[in-house]
Amino acid sequence: MTEGRSFVPVIVGGLLLGGAALLGVYAFAQAAPPTPPTPPTVYTCPVCDDEFATLEDLQYHFTTEHPRQPLPIEWE
Ligand SMILES: [Zn+2]
Repeated sequence: MTEGRSFVPVIVGGLLLGGAALLGVYAFAQAAPPTPPTPPTVYTCPVCDDEFATLEDLQYHFTTEHPRQPLPIEWE
């Protein structure tokens, strides 16, 4: 006689899982902004157009490769 009751937890659990999945999809859709991803910041040498990932790398490159060049960039 107790087999009939065993379906209730399964149904409730299924509803909860379905609701959680819907909430998860909704939250994911809300979390994803419609704006395109920003490109990675690249520091470009104004003299030779070499690119560097960090300002420190660009400064090191500039001071070592172009020691006679004035600094056209205002270092932030
Ligand atoms: Zn350079």
